[in-house]
Amino acid sequence: MAERSYFDWNATTPLRPEVTTALADALAVIGNPSSVHAEGRAARKLVERAREQVAQLVGAQPADVIFTGSGTEANMLALTPAIEIAGETRPREKLLMSAIEHSSVRAGGRFPRAAIVDVPVGVDGRVDLVALGTAVSSASRPLVSLMLANNESGVVQPVAEAAAIVHAAGGLLHVDAVQAAGRISVDIAALGADLLTLSAHKIGGLKGVGAVVRASEDIHFSDPLIRGGGQERGARAGTENVAGIVAFGAAAEAAHRQFADEAAHMRALRDLIEEGIRAISPQAIVFGDAAERLPNTTLFAMAGVKAETAVIAFDLDDVAVSSGAACSSGKVQPSHVLAAMGVSPQLLRAAVRVSLGWTSTKADVERFLGAWRKLASALSKEPGIAA
Ligand code: PLP
Repeated sequence: MAERSYFDWNATTPLRPEVTTALADALAVIGNPSSVHAEGRAARKLVERAREQVAQLVGAQPADVIFTGSGTEANMLALTPAIEIAGETRPREKLLMSAIEHSSVRAGGRFPRAAIVDVPVGVDGRVDLVALGTAVSSASRPLVSLMLANNESGVVQPVAEAAAIVHAAGGLLHVDAVQAAGRISVDIAALGADLLTLSAHKIGGLKGVGAVVRASEDIHFSDPLIRGGGQERGARAGTENVAGIVAFGAAAEAAHRQFADEAAHMRALRDLIEEGIRAISPQAIVFGDAAERLPNTTLFAMAGVKAETAVIAFDLDDVAVSSGAACSSGKVQPSHVLAAMGVSPQLLRAAVRVSLGWTSTKADVERFLGAWRKLASALSKEPGIAA
């Protein structure tokens, strides 16, 4: 296969080398972590070490990390009316969420549809804090879900400010930090989050592993999503995915150690991409660039380019990019994120997401820009499309 440039890191990342090594060692451990014999204890030790590593990535206590089968499952576990905090067991009646959440949050977890309230975002892609204030004050003790960084635009949300608003109204805040982890600093206390969602495969671990992290051991789920053997302190039954959890821990440790350098590396390349796009096609628009964004993400569009066509053209030129969110690509669906930001229907269908990672190189950027130059100039020769 020809050399390719992978620019779809927000969809998933390759395994980190540290992870591959840790995984190979973990696969040699045969025990069930719940067993009392030496084999079981060896597996338990691996799981608990990984719990410490994941906790450290977000400044939490290891006992507050609950491993799940994905980021999606973590969101599903967290978004329930039945969250007990410090012995307070009354169910939460309303779930408030921003209009740009990932589909796994938009689905509403275990709240009935009628209990869900949308909070709008501004044209810059950030949640409207005034609207959030109004929404929380008209809901009694709501659960609020606000992502730390958007998977399509990369726009970083004002989570700490939102937390102050939510807590002042007696609410609880869940933060989907799946895209932010390993790319910007994520500290559960500094954010003021009560619950946080993580996913291993966005930080160099395996697909199919995630976590809910609690701000304190006073927070409990009285209706676990999966009941049975009482694993994960009763919050998520089922024999632990030892290898996947070990890989998650190794990825979290590497991400924690290296994220400042990796972020600077990704940002420099991402800025080159945006400079290049603007030089080749001055009429192109980069969404969310008025706000703070993840250092690895560019979501851009040019009128007249259909995103699906662009993704295929890039692919033929050995460049992997995506049109909007990975979960919805394959289905041609306009982005709910850009729609919430007030983007015109024509541009909505043109948005291409380029997301980088720690192994991206300048040669990758050049390959991308070469492909874009070809595509943009082919379009400018079509009748009716301005260059
Ligand atoms: N939340 C966000 C913001 C995401 O981008 C994703 C995946 O794309 C998820 C949640 C779901 O994570 P997983 O793929 O582990 O189910």
